[in-house]
Amino acid sequence: MTTKHPDAGPVLLIHGGAGAIQKGEATPEREAAIRKDLTRSLDAGWAILAAGGPALDAVEAAVRVMEDSPFFNAGHGAALTSEGTIEHDSSIMDGRTRAAGAVSGTSRIRNPVSAARAVMERTPHVMLTAAGAEQFAREQGLPLVAPWYFFTPERLQALERVQAARRTAAATTEKDRHGTVGAVARDAAGHLAAATSTGGYADKMPGRVGDTPIIGAGTYAHDATIAFSGTGHGESFIKGVLGHRIACLVELKGMSLADASRQALDELAALGGSGGFIVVGADGTAVLPHNTPGMYRGIARGGRKAVAIFGDDVLDA
Ligand code: ASP
Repeated sequence: MTTKHPDAGPVLLIHGGAGAIQKGEATPEREAAIRKDLTRSLDAGWAILAAGGPALDAVEAAVRVMEDSPFFNAGHGAALTSEGTIEHDSSIMDGRTRAAGAVSGTSRIRNPVSAARAVMERTPHVMLTAAGAEQFAREQGLPLVAPWYFFTPERLQALERVQAARRTAAATTEKDRHGTVGAVARDAAGHLAAATSTGGYADKMPGRVGDTPIIGAGTYAHDATIAFSGTGHGESFIKGVLGHRIACLVELKGMSLADASRQALDELAALGGSGGFIVVGADGTAVLPHNTPGMYRGIARGGRKAVAIFGDDVLDA
């Protein structure tokens, strides 16, 4: 789960959600299309890092590609609430200054991560929610779309399965519920950034906000320590404040990133949560742990890149 790089050049990590992703479940064509979109996300972020650009631009660009893809639970293709509506959450954080921005409960902003960045850069606030966030996005000239743009047949079917299971008290599969996309990066100047975006959970209560827009829980970046983006049971990530927790273990306890991440994953499980996260350290160390059978993920470093889906896929970048 650890990729160390003593030369500490630029590095980009992405995730497209953790869950019960089993081999053979998707058709080969669908799996190939998912890998292609993960690679496109890496390419978008890496082009910026390779040109000497900032980590902040790289994570936003990588997340936007996955928001636009129908395969991940963010933007187009997001999970639906119990009312069959869209409520996106997203956040971004700049490790240089610990400036942060977030939006929650939006249903018309095409790329919530860019709205989160606008909140960070153009308001005195950290989070805007629902109608206020959409009004702000409109004023900033960010593209708004009709809510139907975000719907995919797969998410409608997943909601039907989860709701049918709820009616009969049957267990729901993680696959129908989990998602979220995120990116963390370290740029050539050694600055860190993180961004995360999600539709939350299938069948979530309207108004529910998860960990994704909560700074410290679902997203965190501080040049002195780490950049972090999580995916999984948001309530557990919030209770464990997992991104900030790892930063504290590294900074205050002097733990290695691998050990701190292992402890955070144990704490996630102890809180009853499943999921995973991507973290890059100030020295360029990268970890991508998860306690679910699979996690869509990828890494780019030194001009090489790799994507993975299943638990036993090895990432060599
Ligand atoms: N963490 C997200 C949330 O709780 C969902 C996920 O990553 O599966 O909203």
